[in-house]
Amino acid sequence: MATMTCPSFSSRLTIDLDAVRQNYALLARRAAPAECGAVVKANAYGLGIGPVAAALHREGCKTFFTAHLSEALDLAPAIPPDCRIFILNGLDPDCEPLCAERGFVPVLNTLDQVERWRAFAIRCQHRLPAALQVDTGMSRLGLSHDQVEWLSRDSGLREIDLQLVMTHLACADDPDRADNSAQLSRFRQTCLLFPGVPASIANSGGSLLSAAFHLDLTRCGVSLFGVPPSTRPVTLRPVARLEARIIQLRAISQGSGIGYGLDHIAAAPMRIATLGIGYADGVPRSFAATGAAWHLTHRLPVVGRISMDSMAVDVTHLPDDLLSEGMFVEVIGPQQPIESVAAAAGTIAYEILTSLGRRHHRVYLEECRTEVRAPGEMP
Ligand SMILES: *Cc1c(COP(=O)(O)O)cnc(C)c1O
Repeated sequence: MATMTCPSFSSRLTIDLDAVRQNYALLARRAAPAECGAVVKANAYGLGIGPVAAALHREGCKTFFTAHLSEALDLAPAIPPDCRIFILNGLDPDCEPLCAERGFVPVLNTLDQVERWRAFAIRCQHRLPAALQVDTGMSRLGLSHDQVEWLSRDSGLREIDLQLVMTHLACADDPDRADNSAQLSRFRQTCLLFPGVPASIANSGGSLLSAAFHLDLTRCGVSLFGVPPSTRPVTLRPVARLEARIIQLRAISQGSGIGYGLDHIAAAPMRIATLGIGYADGVPRSFAATGAAWHLTHRLPVVGRISMDSMAVDVTHLPDDLLSEGMFVEVIGPQQPIESVAAAAGTIAYEILTSLGRRHHRVYLEECRTEVRAPGEMP
């Protein structure tokens, strides 16, 4: 029996790959002569690792970062084999053969990881590529300066083809924090141990600090997806648009309760639209307090609690014939950027993006599919 694709969906997530490409081009220009790498962990921040990475590569991106080995496996088919894939969270036990066979570059964060990678390289009888992460003051991942110094002295890296030395900034979203330059100067000390090895400190926020933070390679994530990473002004194009379908319209009388717990009681007769999107789709329950959906320039405040698969919005003040069941209204888009959704929900845009569920119908837009090719490369 032929499989039928389901013709119905309650929410639509539109991902503008041209915007991703333009954002990458802008960040790459700002980073130059440093290289601009793309962080596509967490399924490219929820937007789809395959299509996003392919679009980035068409714009000239050659270096990608994931958090997990499984993400690197998802990424690899989308980009040519000459692209580099770094695995930020490190080298998990027993992953050495797969990581080596696929040519992924683990970011080694502990002495145990260094030792296991070295031992595996000895077994393979050839050097294996790796990055080293040093912790310069975030207490999250990476080796201490002393550990790295010991490795550099003790030929502890002899079997390793060291491609990158990196660290991560704790406060890059706030350009005024002195912690940023303190981390940079500590990192520079560590880099002196590895003359000639490329270095990287900047995520999106870091890449908008002074050029001193660009070093050899930036690691941009959220900014590729149109979210300003700090208070520094930068003109990024929004990438994600989320619309939800009106699955029911109703008029309710004064005194009627709305939603679980009947938290909202209508103070007067109201008209309500029930949207087919809920917390299982990534709209946080905390969004109910001050959040809204939009139709054109009309703001439709959320009323009552957000359910798993639906939420109610107040459409009382709209002309009667403006809305109908089946129509889509905006949740994230030109009227309501993702930063506003995050602020209304008491969180950050990163969390909204990466929580967008699997149920949305996904539409990828890409007008300018001009390929970036090396001279002489076949289409
Ligand atoms: C997630 C991550 C990035 C990207 O951060 P953005 O703020 O999204 O640009 C860069 N480097 C490391 C180590 C990360 O974990």
